[in-house]
Amino acid sequence: MQRNAADRLEHLPLFRSKQHPLFSKIFEAIYDLPVDDTHCHIITDRDAFTSPQRFVERISLAGYPIPNYFPYGVYDRWLKGDDATKHDLNKQFDIQNKVDGITHDIAQSVFMKFLVKELAQFLECEPRMEAVIEARNERGKNYWGYVNSLFRDVNLENIMLDTGYAEGCGAAEITSFEEAILPCRTNRLARIEMIQKELFPLDITFDEYEQRFSARMREMLDGDGKGNYGKKSYGMKSYLLPYIGLIRPLHDRSVAQASWKELRASFHKIPQMDRESGYNVTKDLCRYNFTIALEECLKRDIPMQIHTGDGEAPDVILRNQDPFYLEEVCRFDRDNMMRMPKIIPLHAGFPSVGKAAWLSHLYPNCYFELSIMTPFVHQNLFQRYMQVMEVVPLSKIMYASDAYHIPELYWLAGRWGKRYLAQALTEHVIGGSLGFEEAVEAAEMILFKNNRSLYRLD
Ligand SMILES: [Zn+2]
Repeated sequence: MQRNAADRLEHLPLFRSKQHPLFSKIFEAIYDLPVDDTHCHIITDRDAFTSPQRFVERISLAGYPIPNYFPYGVYDRWLKGDDATKHDLNKQFDIQNKVDGITHDIAQSVFMKFLVKELAQFLECEPRMEAVIEARNERGKNYWGYVNSLFRDVNLENIMLDTGYAEGCGAAEITSFEEAILPCRTNRLARIEMIQKELFPLDITFDEYEQRFSARMREMLDGDGKGNYGKKSYGMKSYLLPYIGLIRPLHDRSVAQASWKELRASFHKIPQMDRESGYNVTKDLCRYNFTIALEECLKRDIPMQIHTGDGEAPDVILRNQDPFYLEEVCRFDRDNMMRMPKIIPLHAGFPSVGKAAWLSHLYPNCYFELSIMTPFVHQNLFQRYMQVMEVVPLSKIMYASDAYHIPELYWLAGRWGKRYLAQALTEHVIGGSLGFEEAVEAAEMILFKNNRSLYRLD
C-alpha cells in the first residue's frame, strides 16, 4: 500500500495538530527521500515467529544480553531445552523469573508503548502488543517479504553493514539477508575485532601474528580470498573504546609484543566475567592493531567507525565510552603532523551527545552518526537533533539505526528519523536560521548524501 505523508501521522492527531503549518510542508518534502543507514547489522529469520516477551527481549538493549547474565552457554541450553531441562536450570539459576522481571519492565517503557502504536498502524491491527505480535506472526509466513516491505516503507537505498556482530551467521545467511532487502544495497564494513578473534587463540610467534593480522585486514578490505564473508569492505569498525577507554595510538611493536606474550600466558585463565582483567591483558596489543588499521584507513582514504557511548552492558565498561577519549585518535599525529583520518564516533556518543557533537565541531576529520539514539530516544529525537545541529556542520551528520535482530528497528529508525528531523528543521525555518530549501537540503545530506560521499558509493 502506498502511504502519503498525512497517512503516516493519522494515528497521531494531537501531534499533527500541534505542529506549525510549515511542518507538514517540510515533512512532505522529506518523508519519501532515500535513506542510507551508515551503521547496522544483519537480520536473520530467527525472529520470524515470536511472542510478546521474546520480541521485547530481542529488541531492547537491556534485554538482548540476558545470556551474558549467566555462565557461558546456560541461557542457550535453557532456551532450546525441553521442560525437564528448563525445570532444572530454573532451579539452579532462576532463569524464568529473571527473564519475566526484565521483560516486564522493558514492556513498560514509553519506547515499547510508542512502538506498538506505530507498528499497529503499519500492520493494520489494534494498538495492543498481543495484537501486533499476532499480526506480525501472520506476516512471518513470508518473513523476507515482510522485511522487504519495512525497508521499502522508509525507502532504504543503502546500508553499511557491520559484519562484526552477526549472531554466529556465515556468508550464506548474510547473503540471504542482502538479497531479501533488495533493491536496497548492502556495503560491508570490516571490524578489527573479527581478525583478533580469529588470531588470538593461535599459538604462533608475534612476528607471525603481526604478518597475519595485516594480511587478513587487507583481505577483508579488498574482498580477496576469504574477504569479509566473501566480499570487499567499504570501511572499518573498531570496538576498542568500551574495552580500554582513552585510545592512545601505539606504533611501538615491542610493547605490543609483550602484550602478545602475556595473552599467550593467560589464555583461558581469566574468569569470563572478570572483564577488566581480560581487557587489560590485550590493551597494548589492541592499541597496536587499531593503529595499524587506522594507518590503512588513512592510506586508502576510508573511514573508521568507532563504537562510542551506548550500552551493551554487562560486557562493555560504560565509563570508558566517553567521546572525548577519541581525541588522540582524531589527531593521529606523527612527525609533527596531524594526519586527519576520517573518524566516525558511533551512536551519537549517547548519552554524551553534546560531547560527541563538540568533538565533531572541533575536529574537521571527525563525523557524527545518529544510531541507537535513533530510534531509542523516540519522541525526544526532536530535541536531540536540535542539539546535534547546534554545532555539527550539516555535511558531517549521518543517519543510522544500529538495527540488529529485529527488522522493525530499521523501519522505526527511518520513520522516526524522518519525522523528528522534519520537526527540528521546521524549528530552524521558523527561527529564520534556515530557508525552506536549505532545510530540505539538510535532510538530504543527513539521510543519504553524506554517507554516499564519505564512502564514495556510486
Ligand atoms: Zn552496531
